[in-house]
Amino acid sequence: MEGAGAIGQFGEARAGEIDTTNQPLLEQLRSEGYLLLPAPAEPHAHLDKALTADLVANPSGDLLGAIRGWVAHRSTISKEDFIERAERAALMGLANGFTAIRTHVDLATDAGTTGVEALLEVKARLAGRVDLQLVALTGRPASGAAGADNLALLREALDMGVDVVGGCPHLDEDPEACTHTALEIAAEFEKPIDLHTDETLDPTHLELELLADAVASSGFMFGATASHCVSLGMQTESVQRRVAEKVAAAGVSVVALPQTNLFLQARGQRVAPPRGLTALAALGEAGANVCAGADNLQDPFCTVGRADPMETAALMVMAGHDRPEQAYERVSAASRKAMGLPPTTDVLAIRAATLREAIASAPADRVVVRDGQRVT
Ligand SMILES: [Zn+2]
Repeated sequence: MEGAGAIGQFGEARAGEIDTTNQPLLEQLRSEGYLLLPAPAEPHAHLDKALTADLVANPSGDLLGAIRGWVAHRSTISKEDFIERAERAALMGLANGFTAIRTHVDLATDAGTTGVEALLEVKARLAGRVDLQLVALTGRPASGAAGADNLALLREALDMGVDVVGGCPHLDEDPEACTHTALEIAAEFEKPIDLHTDETLDPTHLELELLADAVASSGFMFGATASHCVSLGMQTESVQRRVAEKVAAAGVSVVALPQTNLFLQARGQRVAPPRGLTALAALGEAGANVCAGADNLQDPFCTVGRADPMETAALMVMAGHDRPEQAYERVSAASRKAMGLPPTTDVLAIRAATLREAIASAPADRVVVRDGQRVT
């Protein structure tokens, strides 16, 4: 069972196994020395924050420092600026192979729905090239009487056309109520849920188990995803196993986000800092769907990043000890499963001899093909 995880269970074309019969463009690309891969999908982005690293400071370098800097800056951003950066970031991703991107977008009473309006505009502009899914990142608090304004904004965003209900229970005063409220509203609107979950090294946070229990007991059927799940990596093996089995049984997908977690977590811990990754082995052994994404792109939450599936895959090889094939499956088939998308017929052609070389070298020479046509 070692590393079994999500690998090879989706029946999707694997590296080097793409059928090029009656596909002259793909046949030509293969003959020119390109490696043909099922196109990757980014399961967790923040296009509204992207490319602001030179504008927003994060002196402490941790999550709360990033949030402080971002919130102070957020209300000054125009709709046009949101659109310009988000579109530029999505096109960086497309050039690197992504034909589907799930992006969270902030909702907050000080900023209203400007970001949502902007991202809906970007989604329309990119139709046919990159399929965008928008997650409403509900402001805090997101439960009870104190959360009424934020929950009203969430409903407004869903009415506007946002695809997924999101939030951050681990930062809420009442994580349990926050989780249940998010699930109830998602069920009411018949939308999937994707929560930032346990994005902390503090093992007293285990909202992932709470989410898995709530999904199982409520029979929620619209798709549930938990992003980060950092603190699961800090639990004992028996706790990891218990939670992983519940996550797998409830059909909750987990998104590992090595880039931002390595950047934000364990700041100031000089001795043996943890890697900040979720419990990949336990989740894999339990049969849970575990995909991988980049999270932030050159913003105060992570000042580097290239919107590149090969970058995320390389980090999963180095920090998560995945095999190259396993890492690529996490940024492609497993990501699409977490996003509720069917296996793709989109193809990334990349100038490399093997998948390992493609991940290691991340060559810029790439062609993205959708429906037999070049889109890059
Ligand atoms: Zn995030």
